[in-house]
Amino acid sequence: MIYKRSSALFKDALKVIPGGVNSPVRAFNAVGGEPVFVEKAKGAYLYDADGNKLIDYIASWGPMILGHAYEPVVNAVIEKAKKGTSFGMPTEIETEIAALAVAMVPNIDKIRFVNSGTEACMSAVRLARGFTGRDKIIKFAGCYHGHSDSFLIQAGSGAVTFGVPNSPGVTQGTAKDTLLAHFNDLDAVAKLISENKEEIACIILEPVAGNMGCIPPAEGFLEGLRELCDAHNILLIFDEVMTGFRLAKGGVQERFNIEADIVTFGKVIGGGLPVGAFAARAEIMNYLAPLGPVYQAGTLSGNPLAMASGLAMLNSLNNNPDIFNSLEEKTAYLHSGLDRSLQESNVVYTINRLGSMISVHFSETPVTDFKSAALGNNTTFKDFFHGMLQQGVYLPPSAFESWFLNDALTYEDLDYTIEATKKVAKTLT
Ligand SMILES: *Cc1c(COP(=O)(O)O)cnc(C)c1O
Repeated sequence: MIYKRSSALFKDALKVIPGGVNSPVRAFNAVGGEPVFVEKAKGAYLYDADGNKLIDYIASWGPMILGHAYEPVVNAVIEKAKKGTSFGMPTEIETEIAALAVAMVPNIDKIRFVNSGTEACMSAVRLARGFTGRDKIIKFAGCYHGHSDSFLIQAGSGAVTFGVPNSPGVTQGTAKDTLLAHFNDLDAVAKLISENKEEIACIILEPVAGNMGCIPPAEGFLEGLRELCDAHNILLIFDEVMTGFRLAKGGVQERFNIEADIVTFGKVIGGGLPVGAFAARAEIMNYLAPLGPVYQAGTLSGNPLAMASGLAMLNSLNNNPDIFNSLEEKTAYLHSGLDRSLQESNVVYTINRLGSMISVHFSETPVTDFKSAALGNNTTFKDFFHGMLQQGVYLPPSAFESWFLNDALTYEDLDYTIEATKKVAKTLT
């Protein structure tokens, strides 16, 4: 494959956009080389600026769960746009999508729409702090909750009590209120709680992690967090920006039958337009302005185009719940095919999967948290990524990202991907 025009477009972008991209992972820093510029996409395929056709395994990092340019969504947006694109006044469609989301997701009474997953998580934590009157939060190393200050904290070495910012610009004052634990390690969470009695407002996590590859919760982990939260009046926040409306209609809460206190959404809920949301039972949501004291707002929140897109997407999923089975079967098929292809080579690997999220780690040890995810061989991953790209398969350009399947993928596409993996695996060391 030739990437001449992409390369030229990247050079132009570099002059006027920092790093040439509007979100860092797009820049290929983790895998080397230059990013592919997309021209258009349809169904499971991306068509890039050089006219190459690629099978897409990132689905815009999740939202395009039914494939690109999905007609019900596109048509809904076009029809809405003709009637005006923003009013700064309430519209009926906001209630429609809110009612549908509340019906699809267990254990929530009210939902508020924002413009991104970042905003949803930031607002959810503010609400948790306001509701409990406490300042500190617990997050897990390797879980991503968007780029607001409280979340840009990761573990230093050993058992850190206070977080250390991992981006300049995040103050120590903010970092000290973010306590860090390791995913799947319940004892460490219990210890943090006992060391910070009555100070912790919430525990926030990706209940199935997707930002360090795909890492499912260990048996009993989510149940244990629920019990700890109940025992200490801490709110449990499930960040379902990735898993919501993907792993089941009702997300991880439904799939694992565990209740969170606040749930955040993004990605699928917008059908490809900028949408985030956070939701909880009425008692908690009523703490938000204008009903309650916790302030949260947005000029473009509930934007009609975004709501039309999200509503068409949620309606499609709600009316065709078999999509979730179909996606799961396709991903399981891919999983076993990748296994066969990789077993034929000498390369060591671990595949993690849950539902339609899957990741290949070039690692000997099981990948269960950020530490074990970081043990993967990044050189092998880079070679695998670029080898697959040459074969016309677009994987996430980082070993720390999950692949997201979309239901437009055919079994032929999956077979092609499995064959491509076999070819590329032979070249890996
Ligand atoms: C993508 C993501 C976010 C951030 O959402 P944005 O829309 O990129 O701001 C937050 N949490 C999780 C789990 C995500 O995957």
